Amino acid sequence: MDFQLTEEQKMLKKMVHDLAEKEFRPKAAEWEAKAEHMPREYVQRLADLGLLGLCLPVKYGGQGRGAFEAILAIEQLARVSSLSATPVFESNVGPVRVIDQFGTEEQKQRYLPPVCRGEMLISVGMTEPEAGSALTDLSTRAVLDGDHYVVNGMKCFVTGGGASDAYVVYARLSEQKGAKGIGGLIIEKGTPGFSFGKQEQFMGFRGIPSSDLIFENCRVPRENLVIKEGDFRKLMTAFDLERCGNATMCLGIAQGALEEAMAYSQQRKQWGKEICEFQAIQFMLAEMAMKVEAARLLIYRATVNADTGLPVPLEANLAKCFANQMVREVTGMALQIHGGYGYSKDYPIERMLRDGWGWGIAGGTIEIQRITIASFLLGRRFDQRR
Ligand SMILES: Cc1cc2nc3c(=O)[nH]c(=O)nc-3n(C[C@H](O)[C@H](O)[C@H](O)COP(=O)(O)OP(=O)(O)OC[C@H]3O[C@@H](n4cnc5c(N)ncnc54)[C@H](O)[C@@H]3O)c2cc1C
Repeated sequence: MDFQLTEEQKMLKKMVHDLAEKEFRPKAAEWEAKAEHMPREYVQRLADLGLLGLCLPVKYGGQGRGAFEAILAIEQLARVSSLSATPVFESNVGPVRVIDQFGTEEQKQRYLPPVCRGEMLISVGMTEPEAGSALTDLSTRAVLDGDHYVVNGMKCFVTGGGASDAYVVYARLSEQKGAKGIGGLIIEKGTPGFSFGKQEQFMGFRGIPSSDLIFENCRVPRENLVIKEGDFRKLMTAFDLERCGNATMCLGIAQGALEEAMAYSQQRKQWGKEICEFQAIQFMLAEMAMKVEAARLLIYRATVNADTGLPVPLEANLAKCFANQMVREVTGMALQIHGGYGYSKDYPIERMLRDGWGWGIAGGTIEIQRITIASFLLGRRFDQRR
C-alpha cells in the first residue's frame, strides 16, 4: 500500500488546481447568482485539457487513465465550484460509463468520442415520481415493436435534463416485477415523443440543469438497448462508480469550506484577537480536517481499486455515505466559524452548504446507503416492502 501520488498524478492535480483557481473561481459566484449554465467555452477548455473522458479508452478519444485520476480532477474543481466539476463528473463517472463498460461496439463509437470532445453530454434517468428510493418500482415501459422500443413514462430530477444530448433511461422491458424486468436504453434528445418538463429550482446545484423527462409513445431504435432485461445489477455496479464521483463532489466542497474557514479564522478578530485563538474554533477546524481526510481515504481506496473498471460496491457505498454526511457537517461548521458573514451570500460558504447537502439525496439517500452497507456486512438482503 502506497499513499503517495505518482509524479504524473501530482502534475494532473496541480494542473487542475491551477485551472480551477485562475479560470473557475472568479466565475463561481456569478454563475451561482444567475443560475447560469456553464458557458460552452469553459466546457471546451476542459475538453482541450483532456479532462473529459480522462478515464475513457484511448481508442474512443479518451485518455485511458484510471477512475482515480478523474477523482483527483473532480476534487480540485469541486473545491472551487461544483458547477465547473460537473462536465468532468458526467464524462468520467457518469452514465457514459454504462456504455463504456457494457455497450456494443457501435454504441461506443457513436457516444464515447463526442463525450471526450465535449460535444455531447449524457445523463441518467432513473427516478420517477412514484419510484425514488424504491427504484425497482419504476413504471416507465419500453415495449418492442419491430425494430423499435415504444417508450412511455416519466423520469424526474434528472441532472442535465433538457441540456444533455442523450440519456441512459432505466425502463421496464417486460411485465416482470421488481428488478427483473428492468433494463437500460439510450434515448437521444430530439427523438419524437421525448420532451422535457420545466427546469427544477433546487436549493443548491444552481446552474446545473435538471428536469423531468417525458416519454409519450417515443420510438427508440432497438440498437439503443444498452442493458438488457434482467441485468439491472450491471446498471447498479456502473452506478457505484457514479457514487464515487458523488462522494468526491462532497470531498471537494468540504475541502474548499475547510480552507475558507481556516483563512477566515485567522483574519476575523473578536475580543481583540484572531478567532482561531479560541479553542472552540480550533476544535471545529480539527474536526473538519479529520472528517475531510477520512472521506478522502475512503474515496481514494474505492477508486484506486476500480482502476479502469468499476469499484467494489461496498467500498463505493462506504465512501458515498460517509462523504455525504461529512460535507453537511463540515460546511455547517465552516458557516458557524464565519458567524453572520457565513450566512450571507457575500461569502461562498452558504453556497457550499446548499450544494453539499444535495449529494446525500442524489444517487441514493444516506438512509438507503446505510441499509445497503448493512446488507453487505451481514450478507443478507432486507426487503423494504415486507
Ligand atoms: C440534486 C439531485 C440530483 C439528482 N439527480 C438525479 C439524476 O441525475 N437522475 C435521476 O434519475 N435521479 C436524480 N435525483 C433523484 C434522486 O436519486 C432521488 O431524489 C433519491 O433517490 C430519493 O428519492 P425521492 O426523492 O423520491 O425520496 P423518497 O424515496 O421518497 O425518500 C424520502 C425519505 O424517505 C427515506 N426512505 C425511503 N425509503 C426508506 C427506507 N426503506 N428506509 C429508510 N428510509 C427510507 C429517504 O431516505 C428519504 O429521507 C437527483 C436528486 C437530487 C436532489
